[in-house]
Amino acid sequence: MLGDFITSILFAFGLSAMVWLGLRYRRRHLAREAYRAAPMPMYWRHILRRRAPVCVRLPLGLQARLHRQIKIFLAEKTFTACGGLRSVNDAMAVAIAGQACLLLCGREGDACFPTVSSVLVYPGSFYSRVRSYDAAVGMEIVHDEARVGEASPMGSVVVSWHEVLQANALQGNGRNVVLHEFAHHIRPTGTALLAALRSGHRKLRVHGEDAVLDAYGAESEDEFWAVSVEAFFEDAVRLRETHPQLYGAMSDFFALDPAEWWSVAGGA
Ligand SMILES: [Zn+2]
Repeated sequence: MLGDFITSILFAFGLSAMVWLGLRYRRRHLAREAYRAAPMPMYWRHILRRRAPVCVRLPLGLQARLHRQIKIFLAEKTFTACGGLRSVNDAMAVAIAGQACLLLCGREGDACFPTVSSVLVYPGSFYSRVRSYDAAVGMEIVHDEARVGEASPMGSVVVSWHEVLQANALQGNGRNVVLHEFAHHIRPTGTALLAALRSGHRKLRVHGEDAVLDAYGAESEDEFWAVSVEAFFEDAVRLRETHPQLYGAMSDFFALDPAEWWSVAGGA
């Protein structure tokens, strides 16, 4: 009798959960459809031209897909001002969304960084608590480390607005904190890409520097992936020249060929 009662309760609970999840999915689906259909405000295009100029170089078909992803990104993610920043205004949010969505616009489907729910923006560098093992003293130490970006597995990306502005240059210095941190929320796949990343990371560790890739990539294969993504979009022509296998594998993975955006348009 008690067993039947518990079974009924569990059944009712399970059914309620399924209905709730179904309604939630439906609401989310309808909201996405509405955002996708809505026209992109003209002033967002001006912001992109100013703050994420590579977006303007995209072929028109890709620009349409990028705009669709930006609208979904802005509708789904929350932006929080931190460290004395008064607010994250539209111009800042669109600039960050525009750069992040470059990673998505060539790929099939609408998945918009499902592991990211919020973006935290600091005015400049910020401190993050780090635990590391100190072999010299034989124990774990805790210290605060200055950072300009961070990707938390708990669902947030943290960036310094000052650093976001550094990526403003056309075909700049190969650095882009937004691309770097959002790359940490995309898992590279495919035999060719994984092999190119492993080999590139090994070489960078041995040589300690590279003409195109940030030396920080030597830290780990994850960091090598993130700095490669920065170079893929920000220094595409030189990456293609100096690391053709890595560039080719990344081009297949993202279904994008950024080096062409610059050569076709007579770029930098
Ligand atoms: Zn990183």
